[in-house]
Amino acid sequence: MEKRISGHTGLMALFGSPVGHSGSPAMYNFSFQHDGLDYAYMAFDVTVEQMPKVFEAIRLFKMRGGNFTMPCKNIAAELVDKLSPAAEIIGACNTFVNDDGVITGHITDGIGFVNNLALHGFDVKGKKAVVLGAGGAATAIQVQFALEGAKEVHIFNIKDDFYARAESTKAKLAEKCPECVVTVDDLDDKEKLAEAVKGCDIVVNATIMGMKPHDDVTLIDKSLFRKDLVVADTVYNPEKTKMILEAEAAGCKAVGGVGMLQQQGVVNYELFVGKKMPLDEYNRFQA
Ligand code: NAD
Repeated sequence: MEKRISGHTGLMALFGSPVGHSGSPAMYNFSFQHDGLDYAYMAFDVTVEQMPKVFEAIRLFKMRGGNFTMPCKNIAAELVDKLSPAAEIIGACNTFVNDDGVITGHITDGIGFVNNLALHGFDVKGKKAVVLGAGGAATAIQVQFALEGAKEVHIFNIKDDFYARAESTKAKLAEKCPECVVTVDDLDDKEKLAEAVKGCDIVVNATIMGMKPHDDVTLIDKSLFRKDLVVADTVYNPEKTKMILEAEAAGCKAVGGVGMLQQQGVVNYELFVGKKMPLDEYNRFQA
């Protein structure tokens, strides 16, 4: 790596806190080296209050691109020059691209999720979806589903602080994607949930349930699984959640959360350098 860095090397970076655990520097630096691209990707631990200075640095160092993680995604959307359609609806961005001083903010979680479904042979256009959750991952998926032409998005969330966010997503999508019918219901209303799952093409878990240490929990009763239902999880730790294992056993098309994570990286890399990320090579390198 050291040999590769020169006086011309361009800087890209992840900003947020914490960032020390992030797999992004390893993945992007491997890809730059593999593709012979003269960039280096770092991770910087910064606070929300420091974000105006971060943007000064992005401009000063002419950084080509990078990413934002919590808690900096919302403030980043206020500091960029332009926003992608999804980032504008959500009011947050996890990725930026600097085109000769014009910084565009993107949110790529939802695109990564949809692209991963496409790799599994599922196109969301014209489909009915049930999405559990109203946090960052869930909102990105709900908005991307609507932008991609889903017919219906049924949001279910428990009545916690996130519930209002589901209502706000519904209101925003009614304005921006009126052809997509969005409903919001209480996740504890098991009858309504069962009815929605019976009538949908895909059910997505985008809550923290199923993730360690909640890995013995599943929010969808396995009796609702049928062979023509797609069951997808955002949770990638464990790689196969209880919901995914039960869906596989029932013969559903089951899609775990790792692909979403990786496809987000692929989308970001293409935005940064206009190339397909060497994901297979990176996975082999990591194995
Ligand atoms: P968040 O904190 O923004 O949202 C948490 C969500 O979980 C909310 O909808 C909340 O209501 C719900 N929730 C909390 N406790 C619950 C309970 N007891 N029962 C039912 N629902 C409950 O989190 P996030 O950043 O949106 O992450 C959500 C999940 O998505 C996590 O498991 C995370 O690992 C995963 N994720 C995956 C990727 C990926 O690339 N695969 C990316 C981002 C997030």
